[in-house]
Amino acid sequence: MSTSASPREGHLTEEPSTDIQAAGTVTDRLVDANRRYAAGFTDPGMDARPVLHVAVVACMDARLDLHAALGLDLGDCHTIRNAGGVVTDDVIRSLAISQRALGTRTVVLIHHTGCGMERLTEEFRHDLEMEVGQRPPWAVESFRDVDQDVRQSMARVRTSPFLPHREDVRGFVFDVRTGALREIDPA
Ligand SMILES: [Zn+2]
Repeated sequence: MSTSASPREGHLTEEPSTDIQAAGTVTDRLVDANRRYAAGFTDPGMDARPVLHVAVVACMDARLDLHAALGLDLGDCHTIRNAGGVVTDDVIRSLAISQRALGTRTVVLIHHTGCGMERLTEEFRHDLEMEVGQRPPWAVESFRDVDQDVRQSMARVRTSPFLPHREDVRGFVFDVRTGALREIDPA
């Protein structure tokens, strides 16, 4: 490795990097906030099983505050989030653990208006492969019709052999402008 490599290129360098310090400022802010949080924290005395026996699967979108939007308190639910709120194999893994080991019975799926996934296509994978020389093993799971995507997600939960509780599954679209949920008919 060249000693003239810049910190940005030299991931293996032992030298302190100003880039890393700069990138740490947001995290530093979070850590500072945690000090204040912990200072006022009292042990809620809960175990790991969600009080409401519910798992919420939702998009990772920053405008979707699940606890506020659904009136949830600490300890009430499992929240499982990814890009799109898509029911991937890994979401099924989390739901299987949630239901089999931690007692949840209900699944709520929440997608939303203005999702970034609506602007992507499976070309994203192709572009990645061209850029890095490897094809990602995962599907992008982009979509055009959010209602249909919620139906697809409900169907994946309802047909998974790994989930013992598949009756109480409902899906919604959250409107990022009004804060309102709209329920999607599974049919
Ligand atoms: Zn989204």
